[in-house]
Amino acid sequence: MMNNYSMIINGQSVAGEAGSFAVIDPATAAPFAECQAASLAQLNQAVDAADTAFNTWQHSSHDERKALLHKIADSIEAHAAELAEVIVREQGKPLPLAQMEVGGAVAWTRYTAELEIPVEIVEDSENKRIEMHRKPIGVVGSILPWNWPLMIAVWHIMPALRAGNTVVVKPSPLTPFNTLRLVELMNEILPAGVVNVLADERELGPAMSSHDKIRKIVFTGSTPTGQHIMRSAAANLKRLTLELGGNDGGIVLPGADLDAIAEGIFQTSFLNMGQTCAALKRLYVHESQYDELSNKLIAIAQQQKVGSGFEEGVSFGPLQNKMQYDLVNRLIAEAKADGATINETADIPAGNGYFIAPTIVTNACAGMAVVDQEQFGSVLPVISYTDVEDAIAQVNASENGLGGSVWGADIDEAQKVASRLECGTAWINGHAEVLPHAPFGGCKMSGFGVEFGQEGLLEYTTIQVVNINR
Ligand code: NAD
Repeated sequence: MMNNYSMIINGQSVAGEAGSFAVIDPATAAPFAECQAASLAQLNQAVDAADTAFNTWQHSSHDERKALLHKIADSIEAHAAELAEVIVREQGKPLPLAQMEVGGAVAWTRYTAELEIPVEIVEDSENKRIEMHRKPIGVVGSILPWNWPLMIAVWHIMPALRAGNTVVVKPSPLTPFNTLRLVELMNEILPAGVVNVLADERELGPAMSSHDKIRKIVFTGSTPTGQHIMRSAAANLKRLTLELGGNDGGIVLPGADLDAIAEGIFQTSFLNMGQTCAALKRLYVHESQYDELSNKLIAIAQQQKVGSGFEEGVSFGPLQNKMQYDLVNRLIAEAKADGATINETADIPAGNGYFIAPTIVTNACAGMAVVDQEQFGSVLPVISYTDVEDAIAQVNASENGLGGSVWGADIDEAQKVASRLECGTAWINGHAEVLPHAPFGGCKMSGFGVEFGQEGLLEYTTIQVVNINR
């Protein structure tokens, strides 16, 4: 079934000219389908199609674009069951989470449709009027990761279109089919060339980043790849939005109500098996509550049902790929060798799937790779602290700055600590929550630019000031 999803250039399904590659089901570690691969000549065709479509699409009215985005949301909703199934098969997450991802895709599309792009009046005097307009940029290249593939595709594509740009999108080779299907559905609604989709294993991303007709790249993925893209983008001064890696710290303040927060800490650490950019990845707990909270987290971890995302009642799926599976296993083994305690976990199913049960690592400390490095998987190190100032310093010692959190009963106190964290979003008594109306992005090595809300939309525009002498 999934072999039928094809790439789309200028509104037409096309066969890949560069062969094909296997896509693996993470619950079995076996290939389940082949995905066709585009050649660099096909990338040029797609960019040319988007460039031509831009000539008319940029002049379409706001009402027209709003109406089309709502139609797309309707179509995603109508195909929700199919899209969720594709996500589980190639990404691995449990079906209810995949359904939530599709629901998020619909919600973000509708919210983005309704945003306005107003003209601002900078001066309006007797002799002069200065207006600030927001124009679309041109062809936008979207390069996607494999963790929330459909939702992130929507995060990239919808605001680009709403602002009047056209798009060439490239999914991760690990999870291509949901994006191919999304763009196919979109092409039933949009004019030809407005959204094009290509897949391949490795050459397209760099070629997009250096393509002289692509005016902006929106990228979500790892920091090293973001750095490659930034270097390539210099040639034609592409605009960039870079949503990169995170190693978010969370601080539990002394006296916190542990019964009230333990479940929330667990869920936001292990959201999507921990493969979430803004998951809580390092937990700092005051020594007075360290054992008690650790034990609560270990108990919740042991209650999880680990298995294939399609299996009824499963709360915890496999990691998405072999690289991530090997990395998390290595970080756990190294932590153990460094003196941390690896606590007993839930059982994992037999077979070759990339399963690692949620693992709480206690007696963890700075200097262990599981603390210092982004794990992006099903492991959470818990670190004891004595002094809140020291906990803040440890959280901020990371080169990343995506999110952070403070957990405690005294909101004013928590907010004081939150204001000290070097990150794009600081949550209080929560973590990893992203919303269509709240701008989201990182600082330091987690990238720059924001997505969502009005600010996110404006990243897909360029300012033109019109200076009128009356
Ligand atoms: P990745 O960087 O390995 O790959 C992402 C995409 O980049 C893929 O489509 C890949 O084919 C492409 N790519 C690879 N090399 C390229 C190059 N040289 N030039 C251009 N494109 C290239 O990332 P991943 O492993 O898919 O995703 C995991 C990472 O993404 C984690 O670090 C995670 O924190 C981060 N992430 C960040 C956010 C955020 O919003 N900040 C969201 C999700 C994931």
